[in-house]
Amino acid sequence: MLKASEATAAIVAENWKRVQQEVLESTASADRDAGDVEIIGVSKYVDAELTAQLVAAGCVVLGENRPQVLWEKAEHFQREGIRAAWHMIGHLQRNKVRRTLPLIAQIHSLDNLRLAETLHREAVSLEQSVSALVEVNVTDDASKTGLPRNELDKLFDSLADFGTINVVGLMAMSTHGATPQKAREEFANVRQLRDSLVARYPDLKLETLSMGMSADFSEAIAEGATQVRIGSSLWKGIL
Ligand SMILES: *Cc1c(COP(=O)(O)O)cnc(C)c1O
Repeated sequence: MLKASEATAAIVAENWKRVQQEVLESTASADRDAGDVEIIGVSKYVDAELTAQLVAAGCVVLGENRPQVLWEKAEHFQREGIRAAWHMIGHLQRNKVRRTLPLIAQIHSLDNLRLAETLHREAVSLEQSVSALVEVNVTDDASKTGLPRNELDKLFDSLADFGTINVVGLMAMSTHGATPQKAREEFANVRQLRDSLVARYPDLKLETLSMGMSADFSEAIAEGATQVRIGSSLWKGIL
């Protein structure tokens, strides 16, 4: 990884422009409105200084998959007066909920009932609410992260007990190394799953679909993604 410098600031700014352009092109090809798709800049590959350069370039919504790193960076940003919204996109252990909750705008990885219980309990004690996506596993790989389809109802049936958790949609990843065709089928499955959940739980809107990464955001946008989580493409020339 390069150390943050004027040179890296220029590379990061260029990458951010390119990624925005590519997302806009995919959005237009899918006959969707330009504002439909939000880019979450995944900063897990780089340190706080490089992350700050991405924010300076204009990417103000950031995703981290490790709670400790998110804490360090969010606290660094607070000290430096850098404003960004943090999204937790990876597994969140229950003993890390208390310190993470006040720092994040959204969690993408709500994937079990016990985590929901803990999120709710801590949110009550912090007197806040939490915006959450339920992470689903739509791949054939049972070892992948996310709830398998057959366990979703149990979680959704319990959500009414967790008034502080605002479930706004689903998050999913495609099978690692999938062909574009296969990735697109998996993303279509996520959208259909969302539609059937909305039919079953009409109180929930589930308007957010967080799907698509550097390799497959175009397929995800074609199937209705409203958030894409893009990492490596933003750090080209840096890593
Ligand atoms: C790392 C990561 C991403 C970004 O992946 P890239 O292929 O680097 O764009 C997206 N989502 C999650 C959950 C991740 O862990």
